Amino acid sequence: MIRITELKLPLNHSDADLKNALHERLATHIIDYHIVRRGYDARRRGHILLVYTIDCTVENDTDCLNVHTQDKHIQKAPEVKYQFVVDRADGEQLSSQSSYQRPIVIGAGPCGFMAGLLLAQMGLRPLILERGKAVRERTVDTFAFWRKTNFNPESNVQYGEGGAGTFSDGKLYTQISDPNHYGYKVLTEFVKAGAPEEILYLSKPHIGTFRLVSMVEQIRAEIESYGGSYQFSAHVDSILMDKDRQIMGVKLTDGTEIASRHVILATGHSARDMMASLYKDGVAIQAKPFSVGVRIEHPQSMIDKVRFGPQAGHEKLGAADYKLVHHAGNDRGVYSFCMCPGGTVVAAASEEGGVVTNGMSQYSRAERNANAALVVSVDPQKDYPDNPLAGIDFQRALERKAFVLGGSDYKAPVQRVEDFLAGRATTALGEVIPSYKPGITPSNLIDILPNFVVNAIKEALPSFNRKLSGFSFADAVMTGVETRTSSPVRIPREENGNSINTQGLYPAGEGAGYAGGIMSAAIDGIKMAEAVAKDLMCK
Ligand code: FAD
Repeated sequence: MIRITELKLPLNHSDADLKNALHERLATHIIDYHIVRRGYDARRRGHILLVYTIDCTVENDTDCLNVHTQDKHIQKAPEVKYQFVVDRADGEQLSSQSSYQRPIVIGAGPCGFMAGLLLAQMGLRPLILERGKAVRERTVDTFAFWRKTNFNPESNVQYGEGGAGTFSDGKLYTQISDPNHYGYKVLTEFVKAGAPEEILYLSKPHIGTFRLVSMVEQIRAEIESYGGSYQFSAHVDSILMDKDRQIMGVKLTDGTEIASRHVILATGHSARDMMASLYKDGVAIQAKPFSVGVRIEHPQSMIDKVRFGPQAGHEKLGAADYKLVHHAGNDRGVYSFCMCPGGTVVAAASEEGGVVTNGMSQYSRAERNANAALVVSVDPQKDYPDNPLAGIDFQRALERKAFVLGGSDYKAPVQRVEDFLAGRATTALGEVIPSYKPGITPSNLIDILPNFVVNAIKEALPSFNRKLSGFSFADAVMTGVETRTSSPVRIPREENGNSINTQGLYPAGEGAGYAGGIMSAAIDGIKMAEAVAKDLMCK
């Protein structure tokens, strides 16, 4: 198979144009081809090009490659099919022994369910413990919070089957290096579970909220079909260890103890109580940088026009996104994050008395506003040098201030960009209507954000406006506060996946500091499942 990269064609090309372009590039008979990646190059407004990576089957790979030795965009296609580290038959034989202790996965987010799926596919019958509810029940609780402020601290946007990314834009791309093509394994599993096939080749795939819900159920069904199992409302309180710090199992908040020598910790960045429990038990934990700020909303039509010009609205482009970065004079990075085209801002609290923002969208991305986090880097050394968990206190304090400023009833404080830049409270909204549910309170965010955050955002807004005209539009609205951009801690692990001071504990995913999104968390889940499988098989 021959791979062609950087093949550029106009937006409105036909299939025949694509075939002709392939023939022209390879100068040989093409038996078959399939699209590996399709992105776009929008640097020239009005002349947006589609950019393809395509694998072609030709008569003779070697002859073809010999003709194109000077062309770095024509190469042998890499093998991307996933190879299990343990055969299912071997895993099943091991797990049928009476002394077998099933590996435990704590958390059923993307990291936990992919780790569980891989262990199940290898015949190792994992047990997945999830503090929240199964995804359908969790959806009811989450919508009850958004519609009626009925907050459930164990079943919300952060907690429950599917993890933090369930009510999201479902962006499925990552910038992590992935030499083993684990990402392809994740995407093929998602397609098997009901995601659209296009996620396999779009350069920026997304699936939106509702499909994620049914996909998560399908993945559970597959795990169970291989002998794995789930326990919901199973809140892990602490780990159990012997005197040599070898994991012996976990203890739930209801007192139940479950034995296992292999525990994958995939509890996400919001499991603050779990972090405190591990810290108390002496598990090595370090503070790590993260970012805080606000969600900003603009009219999506404005973003589309600025990014795509006359080609805005083209079906192959969809709703436009953006990514902006600025290094502020106070030595802080300011950047846009988790941009949700045509989406809504959501209430993402997991603790009573806190307001936390995030963004989601449906597959269609058809809502009126574009939203993105606009955040400023926080540095543990400078901002909270006390102890590894001080970043959590820093986040929590901000969330509580936002709660109070919003009116102490889960409404979020919002401010127009013009008012923020002028340093005055917003009293009336303009053209952009904030989408945050359960509601908003016009406010002055400067009253609650740290000075370094306010100063850095004030400086970044005009700079972003030069890069993306209209970004500092007077009526654009900022909703506070965005605090859960990534984990404030890292749980260091060895090359073989074990915590550096607790054998059998496999820190994984976003909460342990190894991921920053659905894809990277899912990929880390695969890696830790492999680590556990190898250890189980060699004992
Ligand atoms: P999580 O998804 O946080 O899962 C952790 C799980 O562990 C949870 O289900 C939790 O209930 C459970 N748990 C916690 N503590 C315990 C305990 N003590 N006992 C038992 N269970 C426990 N990323 C993207 O890539 N694209 C997006 O479009 C996107 N949009 C997002 C939108 C929103 C609203 C949010 C909140 C996040 C979004 N993210 C997005 C981020 C993404 O969801 C996370 O990066 C990802 O879910 C991390 O996966 P994880 O499995 O490591 O942790």
